[in-house]
Amino acid sequence: ARAPVRVLVTGAAGQIGYALVPMIARGIMLGPDQPIILHMLDIEPAAEALKGVQMELIDAAFPLLKGVVATTDVVEACKRVNVAVMVGGFPCKEGMMRKDVLPKNVPIYRAHASALAEHAAPNCKVLVVTNPANTNAVIFKEFARSIPEKNITCLTRLDHNRTLSQIAERLNVHNSDVKNVIVWGNHSSTQYPDASHATITTTSGEKSARELIADQHWLHNEFITTVQQRGDVILKVRKLSSALSAASAACDHIRDWLHGTPKGTWVSMGVCSDGSYGIQPGLFYSFPVTCENEEWSIVQGLEIDEFSRLKMDATAQELIEEKSFAYSFINQ
Ligand code: NDP
Repeated sequence: ARAPVRVLVTGAAGQIGYALVPMIARGIMLGPDQPIILHMLDIEPAAEALKGVQMELIDAAFPLLKGVVATTDVVEACKRVNVAVMVGGFPCKEGMMRKDVLPKNVPIYRAHASALAEHAAPNCKVLVVTNPANTNAVIFKEFARSIPEKNITCLTRLDHNRTLSQIAERLNVHNSDVKNVIVWGNHSSTQYPDASHATITTTSGEKSARELIADQHWLHNEFITTVQQRGDVILKVRKLSSALSAASAACDHIRDWLHGTPKGTWVSMGVCSDGSYGIQPGLFYSFPVTCENEEWSIVQGLEIDEFSRLKMDATAQELIEEKSFAYSFINQ
């Protein structure tokens, strides 16, 4: 039998955590043959709720779930973990900007990053979900120097999936017939959902989305704003931010990273820029990536038109500002 993989979820008693842990225990993240030991971390005020989640996990009798560690002790939570999904952190309350939570998340990320750097299994893979996700990934990297930067990523897969769905809906096809959309940049309202390179599988072969959607005005306007604002719309109607779709996207992200992307298909991931597409190195920026042998690589050589260039630079600019704001707390 395969050795169990230890998966850490921080903020596990929260909304996304509650949706995410059963998905992991069911094998959605790591496959139907991979036994799991779940590590769940939360803070003292959530300790009782966390205990409740642990009891439900036991009651669900998941065949793949070989153990549950539920704790408020950061070091205990991080010991020997192979995959860390970072969901815990100070939430963005109504009327707050994402960057308002940054000062509150710096100490949290410092603690979690240092503990993982010291206690996680070698080659532990990290996915940052807590907002502002891209900049929290920068903070994480800063405090986890022994974790290679290629093992640190942030979640833009929900935005990617929303982009696929918008194109599918527009063309009245299934989302599995759409591929190679891109979300560039920050997981925020400046993100740039881009369908310029997307293709649609039709009965008469692969067609470009651009060709099938003749309405360029829609592609340059409503399509982009719908994806950018989808989270806010869900927050309004649900009175809570998206959780099941975020949890599902986190599973997609880790699965594709570890098991590889299908041939000819890329996905969007927030990764540390190496300067590709003129994006400042060191920013955590969402790029199109393919994955193989548990490593991502940025898709190279895509043609960038003038419209895309402006959008890509605007979201990079926001990340540069967030990063320098974050460093003003890191350096305190
Ligand atoms: P959620 O589970 O709803 O969200 C968790 C984080 O994920 C938030 O930062 C949220 O951002 C973010 N997020 C990133 N991408 C998305 C997305 N696409 N859709 C929705 N959310 C996204 O928050 P809860 O408050 O329910 O849970 C947080 C948990 O963290 C709690 O259990 C709490 O106890 C714990 N916590 C831990 C702390 C610590 O470790 N010191 C401190 C504070 C809380 P956004 O807020 O912008 O939606």
